[in-house]
Amino acid sequence: MCGIFGYIGKKTNATEIVFGGLKTLEYRGYDSWGIAIKDQRSKIKDQRLIVEKETGKLPNALPKSSILNLQSSLAIGHTRWATHGGVTVANAHPHLDCFKQIAVVHNGIIENFQELKKKLAKQGHIFHSQTDTEIVPHLIEEIMNPSSLSERSESKGENQTSLRQAQAKKEFTTAVREAFNQLQGMNAIVAAYAPSNEIIAAKNGSPLAVGIGKDELFIASDASGISEYTKDVIFLADHQMIILGEKLKLLKLPNGKAIKPEITKLTWHFENTEKGNYPHFILKEIHEQPNVIKHIALAYSDEAKKLAKLIKKAFGTFMLGCGTASYAGLAGTYLFSSIARKHINFTIGSEFKYLEDYVQKGTLVIPISQSGETIDVVEPVEKARKKGATIAALVNVPGSTLYRQADHKFLLGAGQEKAVVATKSFMSMFSILFLTAYTIIDKPQDAKKQLLIAAENINMILKDKNKAKIKKLAEEIKKSEHIYLLGRGLAYATALEAALKIKETSYVHAEGFAGGELKHGVIALIEKATPCIIFAPDDDTYEEIISNAQEVKARGGFIIGIGPKNNEVFDRFIQTASCREATLLGQIAVAQLLAYYLALARGIKDPDKPRNLAKSVTVK
Ligand code: GLU
Repeated sequence: MCGIFGYIGKKTNATEIVFGGLKTLEYRGYDSWGIAIKDQRSKIKDQRLIVEKETGKLPNALPKSSILNLQSSLAIGHTRWATHGGVTVANAHPHLDCFKQIAVVHNGIIENFQELKKKLAKQGHIFHSQTDTEIVPHLIEEIMNPSSLSERSESKGENQTSLRQAQAKKEFTTAVREAFNQLQGMNAIVAAYAPSNEIIAAKNGSPLAVGIGKDELFIASDASGISEYTKDVIFLADHQMIILGEKLKLLKLPNGKAIKPEITKLTWHFENTEKGNYPHFILKEIHEQPNVIKHIALAYSDEAKKLAKLIKKAFGTFMLGCGTASYAGLAGTYLFSSIARKHINFTIGSEFKYLEDYVQKGTLVIPISQSGETIDVVEPVEKARKKGATIAALVNVPGSTLYRQADHKFLLGAGQEKAVVATKSFMSMFSILFLTAYTIIDKPQDAKKQLLIAAENINMILKDKNKAKIKKLAEEIKKSEHIYLLGRGLAYATALEAALKIKETSYVHAEGFAGGELKHGVIALIEKATPCIIFAPDDDTYEEIISNAQEVKARGGFIIGIGPKNNEVFDRFIQTASCREATLLGQIAVAQLLAYYLALARGIKDPDKPRNLAKSVTVK
């Protein structure tokens, strides 16, 4: 995943610019961060790079004591989500070559790094990290200057100015290209070389955008941090390399042939939302949900019509998503079946490649993604596109990779979602699919009415009195090691999404199951006082899910009912409104609040950034 940000230009506060850029990219990873700048004080020809790296999230501002507080016009930075090597300072990016002149930041996984590392180690290169990334600066160095083996010794210490005067065999540009061509996997790299005034980037998989300002150039994992400086952006395509220097040069990979860059004018607006009076973004975003749903109900008719038309004319439709988006997709299959009598396939993004053999011209693929960058969705969508499928993407971030890949773009309109745990984007995904299903049968008004009831219901749930009730429940179950969640039909998707909220927010093990599966194994897990959440909408699943609740209660389970209708089997009950399939929305809002209060009750300090997660998942 990771966020990359680089600056080169006339300004001398490159550190500050890159630091600010990285702050906008923290949603992509926050295990550690680091910045490399060109030290402009140095008068000698072979200048050095100065690097600072830290573990943990970026601080609010760069400390005054930082060694990066120097004037510089060239900097590259990274905020990491570790794939190879633990979360340590040594493993943080940027990584350097033996002579500390080449710095590289990287997004992705270099699949053949072990083989390359062995070869480089034999050639005398010294590695300091366990990352796959570190081989890249050494590989570039090796290509530029293979004869420098004898100089490549650490024992010479700082004073020996391991700064080479030797003439490089190959230029930096050529070396980066040749090095990148050797990397296997889906990767984006950004490299800087102190003696040259250039930043070079290459990509095959992970996203990179280049901003073109007046006398300055930017490179970043997405355009949001660039947009405050310039609206002219080049979105790098796969197998492209770009040189940011005196001039901008775009090259095709692997051969290095020059190509004409296509400049996109950013017309969309990137918000910079603040927490306001809320202690956490997740709570703020839960509170924004009624408006997100209302917006879909009142302003999404045209989009729903367009999507409905595409589904009607498609020769097979496949939805795909990951995590929360996958549960929105799963809910979608129930909606299209029960409302529109349409069979629509759904699978999680990473499984699609094993199921997509039948995709052909005429197939409609609907990727669903908040960030629009999820690699497990982006990659299969690209494959389906090449097979002639039509792509209709539901994404929240305009300009994202999926947004650009799609033939038809449907924005979620949820506004910026800053908390890593998805809340309002799910509401939007579900509401769009719900409205589309009713639009297929020419009854959009029915959907609108139910969505407005659901939005009002969430407003009610968010009243202090009701939140206090959920908070109390969280206190009651906070010591439980396991929570089980049951639902049938559409409420099965509710149970899965609710379980995910509890897991990622509070770190309590929570599992969602289809009510009918209980007796096929799950019931063995129930012990005395095990909390079991029952999602009971007042639809045709009600009686059967209540029977399942009875079965759990008979084994000592602590039964929490969420839905419109109380029942004597429930030990605790949180009421939500009845609004056909949109009943799910109120139930999910309750589950989100329960997850949030459980996190607080369990002493979790920053529920906006759960451990080990990132908002945009750009590695496989
Ligand atoms: N594979 C690299 C690492 O583990 C980069 C991961 C990323 O994309 O953040 O450091």
